[in-house]
Amino acid sequence: MSDCCSVPGLLPFEDALENLLSQITPVTETLTIPISQALNYVLAQEINSPLNVPNHDNSAMDGYAFAIESFQTSKVLTLVGRSMAGSPFEGECKLGECIRIMTGAKIPESCDSVEMQENVQVDADNITFLNEKSPGSHVRKAGEDIQLGQPVFSLGHKLSAVDIGILSSLGISAVKVYRQVKVALISTGDELKLPGQVLASGDIYESNSFVLRGMLEKLHIEVIDFGIVEDDFDLIKAAFVSADKQADAVISSGGVSVGEADYTKTVLDDLGEIGFWKIAMKPGKPFAFGKLPNSIFFGLPGNPVSALVTFHQLAMLGLTKMQNAEPLKRTHLKVKCVKDLKKSPGRMDFQRGVLSINDQGENVVESTGSQGSGILSSLVQANCFIVLPAAQGRVNAGEVVTVQLFDQFII
Ligand code: AMP
Ligand code: MG
Repeated sequence: MSDCCSVPGLLPFEDALENLLSQITPVTETLTIPISQALNYVLAQEINSPLNVPNHDNSAMDGYAFAIESFQTSKVLTLVGRSMAGSPFEGECKLGECIRIMTGAKIPESCDSVEMQENVQVDADNITFLNEKSPGSHVRKAGEDIQLGQPVFSLGHKLSAVDIGILSSLGISAVKVYRQVKVALISTGDELKLPGQVLASGDIYESNSFVLRGMLEKLHIEVIDFGIVEDDFDLIKAAFVSADKQADAVISSGGVSVGEADYTKTVLDDLGEIGFWKIAMKPGKPFAFGKLPNSIFFGLPGNPVSALVTFHQLAMLGLTKMQNAEPLKRTHLKVKCVKDLKKSPGRMDFQRGVLSINDQGENVVESTGSQGSGILSSLVQANCFIVLPAAQGRVNAGEVVTVQLFDQFII
């Protein structure tokens, strides 16, 4: 793909994503687990409802159940029994009769309506109905939530807490799911230290592995942490060899530029089939993707914002495919930008933005300010990406731009 504003040597973002996705093979191993352990697993089976929910007509109110036809003769009905949730009325409720009924209790075959207890007068067994009623009042019909045989979840659906509640309400105690994807995390850099360690001159505290671990765990991916590896060909190679044996995907950060201490490319050339890309996106230009002998490799840039954006916009979509999960849905809005945005044509920008509602009730966005790819705090203030296509130049205040709302993986 090329356009008027493509930059020689830079791969358009869309091409990078398409190429990446085409090379990912989903995991095939499945397991059957109790629903209480199934949160966030991806279904390896379709679920069709084995019953009606609710499975019997039941009352939406505490009150009295009756057949509406009874009112053709009298507004006073004779009380003949009661139906409680879990102890239904098993007798006969004929025309001219009613039963006491509680919320959720089964409605007898011969009744079709319920009146709230507030709208009747009780005189021993004589119940006077004060208002006109229409048939079916306050009745929750069998199957009104889910019908017998109805498709409930499709293959590839990732199970949320509510979904597990639905499975339980259907009486399904175990489900077949795909096994969790395993990802090895490696942070490269001589300057990196873990929090708790003492910083020597020129050192910094490592943050990428913590951000990535959190996002991977939210994706329900098992993380194998390889910690910090120094900028040394042999050490990086040893870490990659070991990670490749244990994980479905290996994610490194740092060392993908072309500086003297950037060994990721040379190690990968040595070990696997590597696509080393310079992507027309900002932040995140240097990004490596490829195959190790047993796993997929994503080499993220070291700068914290670049690492997050390339992970979120590229690697995550590949990992979701590897999980067999439905593609992630991201919410885009077109909104007015209230301040100028700096941009030169050539790369697709993911600027950090703050979306809000102005005094006129319109959605508006502005940038968080400095867009340096090392400024991780810009992601704390922001609630969206302002996504500017590669060909776009500067944006003037008042123009409409596309924003992508931060999803659960960032906030
Ligand atoms: P690199 O891609 O290795 O050239 O790193 C680019 C910048 O990101 C440098 O300023 C690094 O110190 C910084 N950096 C690299 N890895 C990390 C990390 N894991 N956490 C925080 N900053 C990092
Ligand atoms: Mg480095």
